[in-house]
Amino acid sequence: MEETIFKKQNRTGPILFSDYKRGESIKKAIEIGRENVLSELRDSKLKGRGGAGFPTATKWMLTAASTGKEKFLVCNADEGEPGTFKDRVLLCEYPELVFDGMVIGGYTIGAKKGIVYLRGEYEYMLEYLENYLEQMRKDNLLGENILGHADFNYDIEIRLGAGAYVCGEETALIESLEGNRGESRNRPPFPVNTGYNGRPTSVNNVETLASVPQIIVHGGAWFNKMGTDKSSGSKLFSISGDCKNPGVYELPWGTTINEVLKLVGAENTKAVQIGGASGVCLPASQFNRKLAFEDASTGGSIMIFNNTRNMLKILKNFMEFFVEESCGQCTPCRIGNVKLLEGVEKIEKNDFTFEYINNLKELGKTMQVASKCGLGQSSPNSFISILDNFKDEIFNHQESGVLK
Ligand code: SF4
Repeated sequence: MEETIFKKQNRTGPILFSDYKRGESIKKAIEIGRENVLSELRDSKLKGRGGAGFPTATKWMLTAASTGKEKFLVCNADEGEPGTFKDRVLLCEYPELVFDGMVIGGYTIGAKKGIVYLRGEYEYMLEYLENYLEQMRKDNLLGENILGHADFNYDIEIRLGAGAYVCGEETALIESLEGNRGESRNRPPFPVNTGYNGRPTSVNNVETLASVPQIIVHGGAWFNKMGTDKSSGSKLFSISGDCKNPGVYELPWGTTINEVLKLVGAENTKAVQIGGASGVCLPASQFNRKLAFEDASTGGSIMIFNNTRNMLKILKNFMEFFVEESCGQCTPCRIGNVKLLEGVEKIEKNDFTFEYINNLKELGKTMQVASKCGLGQSSPNSFISILDNFKDEIFNHQESGVLK
């Protein structure tokens, strides 16, 4: 099994799926120094790849500037968004990019320890990744005086999650790392000031960290030449559903949905869910939109549904997921998701009024602003977008009524 899972597949891409030699970016980062690493990152305009899109240079600068006896860099490998499996590919086939990115991050913010928070379902990778880290220690890419740099001591530890979707949210992840129940924290204070064990902590997505070594080797300007004005570089897309060639693809930001559908051999596509269960569902009339932070934004999941699929069943599946995964801390999310699911079930039974459905859409909008963390803020996205974009299919048995 190991040979198949951990062997590099025949992938090509402009940044991540291209040539890279382990350790070369660490060597260069130490040569140019922390300030220049930050400068290259600023020039690259790299934004967090987990979905939120926060500028990586700013996050590292804030963590570096924060005072604290210890600092930590955490790699968020809790890849739990339904339809997302790109980090799995990076960890299995490109660990040199992820771990070198973590070393550079630790060097830049002044951390002595990096922690990978690995999705519980990825336990099968643990031994392979631990062996990889051991080899890095032997090669002096981890441990004391890394590559002969007297002040640079840094190591990486891997911790396993336990399968809670909410732990992909950075403060819930930190709670879990500390041995507590995975529940999000109030912000502020932000993790860059008060994170793991109350210390300054930078939490970065696997793909974000994997982008850093290539930026250091080739320069921030090189990276920023790709993509769009507001979305620099490339993106890994986990493409699944009704198409001939599902899988993980590296494409420049700005690629249109139509171009993706052609690339993967999708036919008779009715809907594309962008950004996983917490994202939005787009109809064919919007397939000319660009995948980019400023247009159709996604953490990487693209689910394709052809014209045989029942949109109400898809929506029900998403809402059941959120009812199950809500941590229950705040009322808008805990109760709101149950109410939205009830609404879907009433539509199924043809037992509703349009006034009731419109009220549920308003409830969804309230959840987007009143929920405590990203889970409840994004869980109504599917409900609202599917009802808006596929109302003819969903309500075709209704002869009267107005959906706002
Ligand atoms: S939004 Fe949901 S997951 Fe987040 S704190 Fe509130 S109940 Fe928990």
